[in-house]
Amino acid sequence: MHIVRFKRGDADAIGLLEDGTVYEAQGDLFGELTRGTAVGPLEQVTLLSPVRPSKLVAIGLNYLDHLTEDAPDFVKPENPIIFLKPPSSIVGSGADIIYPDGPEHVDSEGELAVVIGRRARYVKAEQVDDYILGYACSNDVSARDYQFKDGQWSRAKGFDTFSPIGPAIATGIKATDSLLLTCRVNGEVRQQSTIDKLLFGVPALIEFISRVMTLEPGDVIMTGTPAHPPQMAVGDTVEIEIEGIGTLRNQVVAEQRPS
Ligand code: MG
Repeated sequence: MHIVRFKRGDADAIGLLEDGTVYEAQGDLFGELTRGTAVGPLEQVTLLSPVRPSKLVAIGLNYLDHLTEDAPDFVKPENPIIFLKPPSSIVGSGADIIYPDGPEHVDSEGELAVVIGRRARYVKAEQVDDYILGYACSNDVSARDYQFKDGQWSRAKGFDTFSPIGPAIATGIKATDSLLLTCRVNGEVRQQSTIDKLLFGVPALIEFISRVMTLEPGDVIMTGTPAHPPQMAVGDTVEIEIEGIGTLRNQVVAEQRPS
């Protein structure tokens, strides 16, 4: 099942995506969903982020190839490195990524996102499947120069539109599946890995995070990016595709500040 959220007039609604057509969904996102009437072909529907989480928990340095690209001697951290991104940074597939007036180096980071389906606290690794609603593609957009300048990541990764999520939440797949993640800029492949190469896999991440904080239904864990996250520029189109989930597509536009 591929769950989407889309714009309907001034409101938004939950839908199901099947064979390129969006249908209304009836029921509860965290319970049972059934297919209603057709809304239209995907290209004619304005998608929003499929979830509106209370928080976005992101993981730094979680693929060995990304960890070692700048520091070949780096060893695996003892525990996952977690940080938070603000919910105000979330947009859906098709939305603009606003390149802020200020940073000079902004990267795209293609990542597998886990969507929590049930309140989770002190969850054991072997129980995590009961707490996962599904998976989505995400882009942990990062102003790299601000990241290094600040020594922490809130500003660099917290700008509005810096967390595209979508296009859908896919249920019925597992993070241990060898699914290919690809990040393309203007159609050119810039990052590629299978999602089973995570240093700390999804069960370990949920056990670790839920020991720190309560994960609410709809909360999102962005699991980290493989090597060579590409730099982006105004005018670029960035796509994050994960097999079995779909393609998250966003275009980069310049910030227009109010005068
Ligand atoms: Mg990242």
